[in-house]
Order: sequence, then C-alpha cells, then structure tokens
Amino acid sequence: MIIGGGYVGMYTALRLQRKLRSELKRGEIVVTVIDPQSYMTYQPFLPEAAAGNLEPRHVVAPLRKVLRRCRVRNGYVTGIDHGGKCLTYRPAGAKDGGPELEMRYDRLVVALGSISRLLPIPGLAECGIGFKTVEEAIYLRNHVLHQLDIAASNEDPDIRRKALTFVFVGGGFAGVEAIAELEDMARDACKWYPGITGDDMRWVMVEAADRILPEVGPEMGQWTAEALRKRGIEVRMETMLKSAEHRRIVLSDGEEFEAGTLVWTAGVKAHPVVRQSDLPIDDKGRVKATAELVVEGLDGVYTAGDNARVPDLSDTGEFTAPNAQHAVRQAKRLADNIVADLRGRPRKPYVHSYVGSVAGLGLHKGVANVYGLKLRGVPAWFMHRTYHLSRMPTANRKMRVTADWTLALFFRREIVSLAELERPREEFELAGRDQAV
Ligand SMILES: Cc1cc2nc3c(=O)[nH]c(=O)nc-3n(C[C@H](O)[C@H](O)[C@H](O)COP(=O)(O)OP(=O)(O)OC[C@H]3O[C@@H](n4cnc5c(N)ncnc54)[C@H](O)[C@@H]3O)c2cc1C
Repeated sequence: MIIGGGYVGMYTALRLQRKLRSELKRGEIVVTVIDPQSYMTYQPFLPEAAAGNLEPRHVVAPLRKVLRRCRVRNGYVTGIDHGGKCLTYRPAGAKDGGPELEMRYDRLVVALGSISRLLPIPGLAECGIGFKTVEEAIYLRNHVLHQLDIAASNEDPDIRRKALTFVFVGGGFAGVEAIAELEDMARDACKWYPGITGDDMRWVMVEAADRILPEVGPEMGQWTAEALRKRGIEVRMETMLKSAEHRRIVLSDGEEFEAGTLVWTAGVKAHPVVRQSDLPIDDKGRVKATAELVVEGLDGVYTAGDNARVPDLSDTGEFTAPNAQHAVRQAKRLADNIVADLRGRPRKPYVHSYVGSVAGLGLHKGVANVYGLKLRGVPAWFMHRTYHLSRMPTANRKMRVTADWTLALFFRREIVSLAELERPREEFELAGRDQAV
C-alpha cells in the first residue's frame, strides 16, 4: 500500500511494477496507490506552467496510465493505524466529514509529502495562495493576467496600483522561480495593454533570511537577487510579512501598501496525517526513518521524501533536504529494499550526495550550480530545461513538453486570462434567473 502518488509514491510503484516483470512473480504482490489526485505533479515545471510556456496538463503524469500494473484509488488518507495494519481514507467524491472507508495492508509506504507552512499572520489564510499544485499554478496565471485586465479597465489610480502590485513571500525554489516566471510573463503581456507599461507594475519578494535561493549556494543566490533587482523586482531580505488583512500588506520594516496578489511560499512542513498516526515522529512532524528508509523501530512500513526524516550518509547535513533530487532516488532505494525484504536479502542504505540545483528565472534566464559548475543566464536556463526534461516521467510527457517549447519558438506567448473558470456556472445561473421572462 502506497499512500501518496507524488515523487516518492509514483516512483516507488513504478519500480515495483518493473520488478513484477523481472524479479517478482506475477500476482506475488499487489501494489495499491492512494492519492486524492489521479496524477503526479512534476513540481519543478509549475512556474513554467504558470507563465504559459507549458500546457498545465503536460506537467502532470496520469497515474493510471503510468502505473498499469498497480491499483490506483483516488481518496484522501485520513488516518494510519500501523498497529492494526489498517488505514482510513475518504474516497473521491465523498464530502468533508463524510463516511470514511478502511483498507488493510501488509506493507505500507508513507509518501504524503509536505504542505505549505502557514504562520499565524493576520489575513494570510484569507488573502494568500500557495504554489505547490498545478491548480494553484493555473489559478495564479489567470489571476495575474486578470489583474492586468482590472488595471486596464479602471481609471482610479488606487485600484490600478493595487491590481498591479504582486507580493511573493519566501525566497526558496518555489518563490523565486514563480515570481521570476510570472513577472516575465506579465511584462510580456503588457505589450497588449496600451495603458500599462512594465514599469507600472510592482513585484516584491519578501524573505526573512539574508539570502535567497539557498539551493544554489551563497554566491549564485546573491547573483540571482541582483539579476531580479535589475529587472525591477524588489528583493527585500531580512524582512517579514506582518499582516495582510484585506490585502493591505504590512512589512516588518514598517512599509504598508495594498496588493492584489499575495503568494506564500515560505516553507513547507510534513503532511499533518503522519503526525496523527501511530508512527514515530520527530519535533518537525516528520516520520523518523532509518537510512534503509524503514520507519524506525517498525516492521513492514517504509517512508521517504518530504514527509520523512532520512539520515544523510553523504556528510552534507544531518538529514536529507526535502527536494525532488532526493525523493526520486529514495523511491528507487525504497522499492529495492521492499523486494530485498520479500526475498530475505539484506537491505541497502540510501546514500546520495546532493549534486546542486538549477532554477529557471523566466524565458532565456536561469541560474545553476551543479557539481560546482556555476552558470548564469541562457546557459543555466538551457541546463534547467534539459535537466528537467530528462527527469520528466514518461516519454509521452517529455514529447508534449518539447512540443510546447518548440511551438513557443514560433508563436508569441498566449496572454488570455481564463479567470472566469472559477465561476463556470455563472452564465447558466443567469439563464435560470431569467427563465420567467
Ligand atoms: C514550485 C516548486 C518547484 C520545485 N522545484 C524543485 C526543483 O527544481 N528541484 C528539486 O529538487 N525540488 C523541487 N521542488 C521540491 C520537490 O517537488 C519536492 O521535494 C518533492 O515533490 C517531494 O516529493 P514527495 O513524494 O515527498 O512529495 P509530493 O511529490 O508532494 O507527493 C505527495 C503526494 O501525496 C498526495 N497526498 C497529499 N495528501 C494526501 C492524503 N491525505 N492521502 C493520500 N495522498 C495524499 C499528494 O496529492 C501528492 O501526490 C519544488 C517544489 C515546488 C512546490
């Protein structure tokens, strides 16, 4: 039983599925994957999907197509009782608080990933949005373009200023790539809005620490901050969001202003379901794993990825960082250790030295630090694209992503906002109200 069909869940299932053809006998094991979504999201491509360089459907891998020899159930796992080898879940379609089902298992893989870590900042939960899912990426794209529509359709300077102010809190991968890609797209879109220039927009990155993009190291992080500033993006380090009530942003340096957009990417925490289970949890809410990716002190339960605390045997840090690089490799080791357990062979520990990172900062812009090789601008952007293309699951998705990029060479970027997608029944309801006439 694999709970969560993201990086760890999908790659573990994929590996077990392959083993079913080689090492394992057909029917020897049944692999079930439960996830509320029917697809795995390739998160590093979300900024490009938000910017309209990639079709959002192409940055997800459909679980049923990829995992043909596994059972896929759509549902939200609500509880794990490993003592009773049983879990509870709310199947797709059941309402919050609706009836829950139980499922028994022999072996369990806990791969629920992480959720956004929200701080108790007034107004944040009401006005902010995260950047972890494809739904959020689609929403943000439509929302940003809709802000340009609002600014172009109003004379009131306060309304225009608010619509054209975009605030991103958190300078990690997600925040930096999201602000860079969306600013690039919005600047491009301004060409089609006669009353708005790129300089009318205000893009603000707020980061509590004294650096951004720690994943690429201090030197390249500093370079990234300068590169964003040259584009007119305000990078506010050692600054915190204090309040966002009614979209009025208050920063720790005392500045106050209105913003139509507030994106929160200031950290993640392990999925809350693991905290409510009977699994051993550390002070950050992560499941305690051994280097062999088995849950400490328990039999038949494995874990990896963002929801797990995995010892880092490569001497880089005490525990492995929550990123895709580790998640994919841990999934393979985890699946191999399950097969080793089934065959009575010794398990192997997970060892991987972090090789560095690549980040896209908009069309033809990027930053990379891989195996100590530091790249900036177009070469880094090219490396970002080729690296992630090679990692994208399935040949089908690789081809679709390549086709999107190729088409973008010949056509200008699509700038239509489908903000009305959030209210698909409006037209029909109007027709209903007008029936009497
Ligand atoms: C915008 C963005 C860009 C990123 N870029 C990079 C990058 O360039 N390089 C890099 O190394 N890392 C990057 N990361 C981080 C990387 O994506 C994560 O570390 C990785 O996804 C972790 O894998 P995981 O399997 O632990 O979790 P996930 O991939 O998040 O999978 C968790 C799964 O659990 C499912 N789930 C949630 N709740 C339940 C439930 N109750 N029941 C059942 N299933 C549930 C979810 O639907 C999801 O499918 C990025 C992250 C983001 C958000």
